[in-house]
Amino acid sequence: MARVELNGVAKRFADGSWGVRDLSLTVEAGELLVVVGPSGSGKSTLLRLLAGLEGVSGGEIRFDGEVVNDRSPQGRNVAMVFQNYALYPHMSVRANLAFPLRMRRLARREIATKVKQVAATLGLTELLERKPAQLSGGQRQRVAMGRALVRDPGLFLMDEPLSNLDARLRAEIRTEIAAVVRRTGITTIYVTHDQVEAVTLGDRVAVVRAGILQQVGPPEALYRRPANTFVAAFLGTPGMNLFRTVVRRGEEGVTLDLGGRRLPLAPEAVAAYPDLDRRLGEPLIAGLRPEAFVAADTVSAASRIEARLTAVEHLGHETLLYLDAGVETVDPETGGGAPTRRPLAARLPGLVRAPAGDTLSLGVTTEKLALFCPDGGALRG
Ligand code: ADP
Ligand code: MG
Repeated sequence: MARVELNGVAKRFADGSWGVRDLSLTVEAGELLVVVGPSGSGKSTLLRLLAGLEGVSGGEIRFDGEVVNDRSPQGRNVAMVFQNYALYPHMSVRANLAFPLRMRRLARREIATKVKQVAATLGLTELLERKPAQLSGGQRQRVAMGRALVRDPGLFLMDEPLSNLDARLRAEIRTEIAAVVRRTGITTIYVTHDQVEAVTLGDRVAVVRAGILQQVGPPEALYRRPANTFVAAFLGTPGMNLFRTVVRRGEEGVTLDLGGRRLPLAPEAVAAYPDLDRRLGEPLIAGLRPEAFVAADTVSAASRIEARLTAVEHLGHETLLYLDAGVETVDPETGGGAPTRRPLAARLPGLVRAPAGDTLSLGVTTEKLALFCPDGGALRG
């Protein structure tokens, strides 16, 4: 199975626009890497470059150490599944799975063995005689995967393969995809615009924006320690709250400014930023996840804020509260932008009975605070 390396890979189109810029990334053999980013961020371009359907404008792509820049798509042993995969409607599942092997003129017996194997891996054994029209969306998706995997590719590329399916089915199939990748040990790069899909599926997740890699790492690391305000706001539903702040050290200890209030900063947060002493009194950006807000009576009086509720969403097991806390929020794309006062999102367990317009007292926990510089980059931890 291939280890994939990208070194400064770039793709510039004839019209001068960039698909991918200076992208460096390694995918270990057998790893499932998820690439996530908004629409137009260069995800499909990246896969097309790997598959050899487009040539790079700069940089190097290596499979198992060998440069493949000039290798034809056929010579790369890469399989790809797209969002709009099409099965042959008049063929049975068995014939669909066998098709790529028949094209390669493999021996009949070899084809039968291979098809049986892949069908077993994907749980399609019982369905081999059916036609695509007699399958559910999820089963059809598995056949499409099987047809890609039957050729024993060294690299498996998936471009938003679940976008056409409903939410429940997507959740079900992505669990299956992860299991299949682990079972087959095929190096897989999976592309999606859906950050929930990304963090639930990937061993590691790479976040791209405008063709530029923002951060790559395990989902927990990206969630806890985003490299910049874009990643902070992109991951999570809702994303991280970002607002202008100043950290001070005084008689009351180290404090964080939240809309003019000085909240005590948890020792964990102070310890997480060894450089913080040099930034005291300077403008910074604070990042608090919605779950940093807690019931007021669970914290000391100094950690409470009063805020007006602008909207409430009841999700059954939790409540999302949107708060006007008088903070100046920032544009996550740049860390800057014109002064805005978007509400802060708070996530509380259970049913919180409070109508919009009410003023609410809430606790703010800062143990997991993230701090950013005014340019949007994470403060060095
Ligand atoms: P994604 O898959 O993340 O939605 P794409 O890789 O399809 O993004 O596109 C990345 C950027 O490159 C977009 O701005 C898109 O308009 C541009 N692009 C893609 N293909 C071409 C092309 N053949 N010619 C010019 N621009 C292109
Ligand atoms: Mg795309």
